[in-house]
Parts: sequence; C-alpha cells; structure tokens
Amino acid sequence: MTFPKSKPRILTGDRPTGPLHLGHYVGTLANRVRLQSDYDCFFIIADLHTLTTAPTKDRTSTISLRARGLVLDYLSVGIDPSRCVIYQQSQVPQVAYLSLIFSMLVSVPRCQRVPTLKEVMHDLNIEKPSLGLLTYPVLQAADILMVKANLVPVGKDQESHIEVTREIADTFNKLYGEVFPVPEALIGHIPSLVGTDGQAKMSKSVGNCIYLSDDEATVNQKVKDMYTDPNRIRATDPGKVEGNPVFIYHDAFNDNKAEIADLKDRYLHGRVGDVEVKDKLALAINKFLTPIRDRRARYQNQPALIEDIISSGSVTAASVAQKTLNEVLAAMGIS
Ligand code: AMP
Repeated sequence: MTFPKSKPRILTGDRPTGPLHLGHYVGTLANRVRLQSDYDCFFIIADLHTLTTAPTKDRTSTISLRARGLVLDYLSVGIDPSRCVIYQQSQVPQVAYLSLIFSMLVSVPRCQRVPTLKEVMHDLNIEKPSLGLLTYPVLQAADILMVKANLVPVGKDQESHIEVTREIADTFNKLYGEVFPVPEALIGHIPSLVGTDGQAKMSKSVGNCIYLSDDEATVNQKVKDMYTDPNRIRATDPGKVEGNPVFIYHDAFNDNKAEIADLKDRYLHGRVGDVEVKDKLALAINKFLTPIRDRRARYQNQPALIEDIISSGSVTAASVAQKTLNEVLAAMGIS
C-alpha cells in the first residue's frame, strides 16, 4: 500500500496482551470496521506499550505470538487488510525518536494527572510505576502523530490519553510551525462495556471477558454464570434492568429489539426468570459471533498471510513515520 493518500487518517490499535473481547468490539473494533473505507486506517499492534507493565522475558518473548493472534482477531471482525495498514510498533523505530522529542513538550505533573496511571497501578498492584508507564501517553502520542492521524477510535478509558496527544500536537505546532493535525477521539457506542461479573469494565486482567474467539459452549457457560440483579431472589421478584449487565449485553448484541423490550418488561414486573433472559442472551451473542467465527475459520490456517500483513504493514508504517520525522526535524531546524 502506498502513501500519501487523499483520505483523512485513523490510527488506533491494541496491546498484544491476549485475545480481544466483546468490550474491544463495542469500544473500538466496530468503529474501525465501519470507517475503514472512508479513512486511511493504521492499526497498531502496540507491543512496546506492553513493556510498561510486563517487561519480563516470559512476556516479551511471547509478544510475536500474541501479535499474530491479534491480527487474526482483526481479520475475524471484518478488518480488510487490503485497505488498512496493520503494523507492529516495535518494527517502526522512528516512533521512539518522536516519543523522545515529545517527552520534552509535556511536564511530569501532567503525565501524573492522567487518570489511567492510577487505575493501572491499582489494578495491577504496582507500587512504583516505571518511567515508561508514566510516559505511556507520550509514546501513544508519537504513534498517533507519526501517521498524522485525524481520528482515533478508542474506548472511554483512552480519552484522557488522546487529550495528551492533542496537547502535544498543539504545543509542537505553536513552537515549530504546523506539522500535526490535532486529532479527535472517537468513543465507541458503548464507551466502556461492563464485565460478566458486573465490574465496571470487561478486562483481560480481571478475567471477566467473553472473547471474540470463544466457542458456543464457552459463551453459554459464561452467560449462565453472569452477574445480574443481586437483590432478586425469585423469578416473581420485580428486577432491576438499568445497569444490569445481562440487559446491557442484550442491548449491545441482541438484534431482536422486540424480544429485549418484552424481556425487560417482564423482568421489571417479576414475570420472567434469569434462566430465560440468559438463554436468550447466549443465543443472541452466539448469533452475533457466528460471522466472526466463520471468518476466523477461514484465516486461521493461513499463518503466512498473517506474517505478510504484519511485515508489509510495518514497512509502510515505517516509511510514513520516516517522512513525518524528517518534517519534524526540519521544522525544528535540526536537520
Ligand atoms: P487494551 O486491550 O487495553 O489495549 O485496549 C484496546 C482498546 O480497546 C482501547 O481503545 C480500549 O479503550 C478498548 N477497550 C478495552 N476494553 C474495553 C471495554 N471493556 N469497553 C470498551 N472499550 C474497551
């Protein structure tokens, strides 16, 4: 794929920390698929970002394997590799150079104020964050601005990071001249999907996920075990629909809106049991996952194709990155 092209650009991506789940889908993947023909899309496998919390050898040495799994997830949801650049962050060394320059344009207290820093430290029991974890949003700004992205489709938790990117772009432009667009975040139609355990966010690290790669029986079991309204003991008790994960998932994944309205009405009035609500949800999620499973089956025996997507995407991304870096250095008067 050759660049520049005439369309506005998207950059977004994922850390290769494990398989993608329904939260990823509603938070960002759905927007990627929807917008892939209107934008020139760059999807980054953000492997350097995984080092911010897990730089141990057993994790670093398995990054490549998880990166390939990520690409399979992308293809399975309908991301078209002939239209999008899918690349591995560590294969684009220019990003580290730009990140270094950007790190001079943002203060330490500003990075300390980013809410995800405290959340990650809390969730992963990190007492002393590494410098790399503190500057996570700066590296992300380098990823986004390296390809001069205009739009960044992400889940709600990433909004504060995109704000840092916007500030860095603005600061750079004011200091050295207009090089970067100031990108917008595009938050998914469900900004943060709750986990099957009712916790605020579906997350790999919490283990409350339904994965895009789960088979039918696994989905059935996970839905059966789902958290619902804890105050409802019997099917005849009036139940709570709002904030109830089972109904949040119905709204997100069940295309039969009349069925949802009927279930909600009966639930509110104590006329339906959790078993029926969950059985119908499992059916709906499995129906939603069917085309995703079909595409996965088509691609999973093509490892050479996946290798090629990553390596050719990384070559394209590196050439776009080098061009931006040249512009940056020229604007600064360094070159
Ligand atoms: P991560 O797996 O943390 O690297 O996240 C990759 C992308 O998925 C980011 O844009 C996140 O905001 C989004 N994301 C992850 N989990 C969820 C969730 N439970 N709900 C909505 N978006 C999510």
